[in-house]
Amino acid sequence: PKQKRGKFRSFVVWSWRLTYVSALIGAGYITYGVIQMRNPADQEEPDPSKKTLVILGTGWGSVSLLKKLDTENYNVIVISPRNYFLFTPLLPSCTTGTIEHRSIMEPIRNFLRHKKASVKFYEAEATKINYETKTIHINDDSDIKGDMSETEVPFDMLVVGVGAENATFGIPGVREHGLFLKEVGDAQAIRKRIMDCCETSTFKDQSEDEIKRLLHMVVVGGGPTGVEFAGELQDFFNNDLQKWIPDIKNNFHVTLVEALPNVLPMFSKQLIEYTEKTFQEETITIRTKTMVKKVTPKFIEAESTNPDGTKHLEQIPYGLLVWATGNALRPVVKDLINQIPAQKDSRRGLAVNEFLVVKGTENVWAVGDCAVANYAPTAQVASQEGAFLARMFNNMAKTQAIEDELKECSDKQEKAPDKGTRDAVFEQIKDLQKRLRRVKQMGPFEYSHQGSLAYIGSEKAVADISWLSGNFASGGTLTYLFWRSAYLSMCFSTRNRILVVIDWFKSKTFGRDVSRE
Ligand SMILES: Cc1cc2nc3c(=O)[nH]c(=O)nc-3n(C[C@H](O)[C@H](O)[C@H](O)COP(=O)(O)OP(=O)(O)OC[C@H]3O[C@@H](n4cnc5c(N)ncnc54)[C@H](O)[C@@H]3O)c2cc1C
Repeated sequence: PKQKRGKFRSFVVWSWRLTYVSALIGAGYITYGVIQMRNPADQEEPDPSKKTLVILGTGWGSVSLLKKLDTENYNVIVISPRNYFLFTPLLPSCTTGTIEHRSIMEPIRNFLRHKKASVKFYEAEATKINYETKTIHINDDSDIKGDMSETEVPFDMLVVGVGAENATFGIPGVREHGLFLKEVGDAQAIRKRIMDCCETSTFKDQSEDEIKRLLHMVVVGGGPTGVEFAGELQDFFNNDLQKWIPDIKNNFHVTLVEALPNVLPMFSKQLIEYTEKTFQEETITIRTKTMVKKVTPKFIEAESTNPDGTKHLEQIPYGLLVWATGNALRPVVKDLINQIPAQKDSRRGLAVNEFLVVKGTENVWAVGDCAVANYAPTAQVASQEGAFLARMFNNMAKTQAIEDELKECSDKQEKAPDKGTRDAVFEQIKDLQKRLRRVKQMGPFEYSHQGSLAYIGSEKAVADISWLSGNFASGGTLTYLFWRSAYLSMCFSTRNRILVVIDWFKSKTFGRDVSRE
């Protein structure tokens, strides 16, 4: 037994040492990262002889392109009304205060300042792309405007990564009375509205019907965004709201409305059923085959399909309406489509070829939600497209450099004074040609689907993960831990990761904040 105790002791001692050393290495790594982040090196200045590459947008597609692009090869200009990158997969968590919105924002300035060659950034909206003149009309739409707030930016190469607008399908009242969930401002507005509804429902002498209406939270759209938001909202009620505002306990209710026969259509059948069962347990009502026809300030008018196939119209009163039904074209994209005859049939976005070139154009590419390449409009697709373009642009620059060198070598070979020099140059040419062939060997864009993930509330998530050549479907609490770690690892920077972990810890320990800003 003495020997056993000795072994156990040495196991504990070694485990402790290992943990200690790992913690030190981890802390060192983070410290190094922070120092690097806070002390950017000097950058190369733009070279006017190089081509001007304009990138529109600071979302998934554009930022993924910028991340991998060797900026010293071009004069890069980024134009976007948003001077930060937003990690959208965690945006639903910001609507209830599980995560603070600044934790998932990365200032574009910080990021661009770390590129080898400097990149110009204009905080502005591209209002028109003139393909003929190769110029972009930009407009500073912020509150503070200088003497110059509208101008034109010329380009040699253009990447359109402006994303998409919220689709309302022309349903009257959606824009006026509903809230969207796409930007930081949307999440803040939802958070305020939830608290406003709760507080207003407890106002003195409020009628029973009005209390029910105010506390009816309706989410339209059964895709991942709608489902995740509904789950987060129910968590907020279960863990915090009902504790601090007990008066709302019996009337708070979340309803998810979807026009299709089921929610999460991109997930496997078994996960759809699992989600529906979990929602039932969480007391979230799912109303499938229900099409919203009109939105008024206090109710939505919807057409539901009965089990026998007949339809009926009904009025659904609501306090909060969140509209998450997908994408529509931005005006600047619509306008570009109208300028290019080859795009006349494009309805959902700019049609691109397998190299992401906008069909019917030269030197114009499109990535992400504004491009149509037969993939779902997701961050995964947008970021892979951006990375592909970066590789292609880097290759194009390398090709140009090798071709210039080849030209120089041919001149040298012609002027070579003797056979020895000529042979040496010939060897150099052969080597360059080999390199050129290698660089030019870039295939078309191929999307690799990593899987789909969605949080469904009550610390449960569903995941359809691509596994070897098949698919692995799972749902539950373990999947939730996987969901968290996957999103954490995908966050833009170490800073974001640390802030998100702190927020999770904060909301778990102290609960979510129920004050209305
Ligand atoms: C709440 C939410 C959750 C999501 N969760 C997931 C998820 O879990 N997994 C997933 O794969 N996808 C998810 N998505 C989808 C994903 O966010 C989008 O597919 C992705 O953002 C598309 O990237 P993008 O670069 O095309 O556009 P965006 O990321 O939307 O970026 C567009 C950029 O263009 C800028 N811009 C807009 N108009 C102009 C203009 N006129 N001129 C210049 N710039 C302009 C915008 O300010 C923005 O910077 C989610 C989306 C939302 C809203």
